[in-house]
Amino acid sequence: MSHSFKQLPLPAAQQDNLTELGYFDMTDIQQASLPDVLSGKDVIGQAKTGSGKTVAFGLRLIDCLHVKFFAPQALVLCPTRELAGQVANALRKLARYQQNIKIITLSGGMPLGPQFASLEKGGHIIVGTPGRVKDLIQKGKLDLSEVKVSVLDEADRMLEMGFHEDVEMILNECKPDRQSLLFSATFNAEIEKIAQTMMIDPVWIKGTQ
Ligand code: ADP
Ligand code: MG
Repeated sequence: MSHSFKQLPLPAAQQDNLTELGYFDMTDIQQASLPDVLSGKDVIGQAKTGSGKTVAFGLRLIDCLHVKFFAPQALVLCPTRELAGQVANALRKLARYQQNIKIITLSGGMPLGPQFASLEKGGHIIVGTPGRVKDLIQKGKLDLSEVKVSVLDEADRMLEMGFHEDVEMILNECKPDRQSLLFSATFNAEIEKIAQTMMIDPVWIKGTQ
């Protein structure tokens, strides 16, 4: 069977954008997860590094937004500043066909001033590291109450780094009926715990290569 992105229910403009980006066939994890991800289910996807997990959740984030509504509606938590930057860049490519999507990166180790300023102006998608995102919530600068899709990216690394409590606190700030996505290169007991406490009947996709 063809693994073309064309079989997915995406806007025609996004289909054209994917072609321009040189994405023709889905990778295994994209093919296994995108139908459930796009239909709004909670999904846990495991696949090795470099297998295309960012597109597997990124297409959903871009697709779920009400662009005229200037509030964070999607959240991606990443373990490090570098990864948050990479994810934000990848999302900007997927968002190219829409003029006004604003993505805000909130990483630790960066000055707070510009992050306050970005949040004042507003945006649709927050990509950040758990410590800084929690800090900004506690400072009253970040309101996640309209977040309807959350993503834990590189969840294994994030939990190994001791972010479990921060992640739970942050997810509890999001809409209770949100869609929760989790992507990881490996599975461990901490991920099982998050799946049980923070997600609703997730679809598990294990070990695609
Ligand atoms: P992971 O998060 O699984 O480590 P990434 O999302 O960073 O992987 O993707 C790895 C690389 O594969 C990136 O350079 C990305 O642009 C590319 N890529 C993703 N999906 C596709 C696709 N369907 N076709 C071709 N290249 C892709
Ligand atoms: Mg990744």
